[in-house]
Amino acid sequence: MMCRRIVINGRVWEGDASWRWVDEVLLLPLQAAVERLGASRRWAIYPQQLEIEKDGKTLTLEIGAAAAWLQDERISLDCPVYLDNNAVMVPVSLLCRFFKLSWALVEDAGAAVLSRAEPALIGKTVLLDPGHGGEDPGIISGDLIEAEFTWDVAWRLGSLLRLSGAAAAFTRQREETASLIQRTAAAETAKPDLLISIHCNSFIHPGRNGLETYWYSSWPARQLAEYIHRETIEEVEIPDRGVKESAFYVLRHAPTVSVLVKLGFATGDRDGHILMDRWLRERAALGIFRGIRAFMEAGAIQM
Ligand SMILES: [Zn+2]
Repeated sequence: MMCRRIVINGRVWEGDASWRWVDEVLLLPLQAAVERLGASRRWAIYPQQLEIEKDGKTLTLEIGAAAAWLQDERISLDCPVYLDNNAVMVPVSLLCRFFKLSWALVEDAGAAVLSRAEPALIGKTVLLDPGHGGEDPGIISGDLIEAEFTWDVAWRLGSLLRLSGAAAAFTRQREETASLIQRTAAAETAKPDLLISIHCNSFIHPGRNGLETYWYSSWPARQLAEYIHRETIEEVEIPDRGVKESAFYVLRHAPTVSVLVKLGFATGDRDGHILMDRWLRERAALGIFRGIRAFMEAGAIQM
């Protein structure tokens, strides 16, 4: 059976219930949003009517009813709220309206992703640099082609950033060949606030595994690398090979705060499955996303 995951504000919800479709309406367990977004929930009439409260606003839901009440306003629902093994299932449109979220379904990872616009990210542009591409496949190890992998992770990361209010730009398109000079030229044009370059690693021995995150010569870049590295390791079980300084071309020449992430060893006996697994790729993108968010929230970019 397909796994159904829920991600809210950059973190996987670990609860038992999952999302589901009913007549083309996506429903989610209310509890996921309540827990992740710090709302309170109580039964007004058990087990019929319940109230959710957040930031002084109240949403009143009735099991089986085709409408809900947001303060004094009646909201018609695409699908009635229902109980499923004690989980209160609510249409995603209602959750998004009450909690001010945007949502997307990441189909290949089975994940419903909900996010609120983050003040620290609104109006910011992140330039994503998927390593290699086109005539340059990068590392090839078994079924893994680095150029496809880096595009896939960058694309996932771009979607997460957009859901949270940032703009995402790319240094290349999916099948495109882009030289290092073209990539840094893209950074001149896009005038991004940050640049994130994504690669993977390789080594002759399969015993070498782990995440390496690189920065070059600037204090904010180092800070950004530290945030990304920490959050990615927290999200994906991958050995820690450290945050390092290195004069990679894009880091040296990009006119902005730049970090290069080597997301594991394509040749590694432990990392190999992380690089091939769609859900773990999504989680790696979540880790990088949270690192970016934490960096922007810390305001380190003003330095
Ligand atoms: Zn590479």
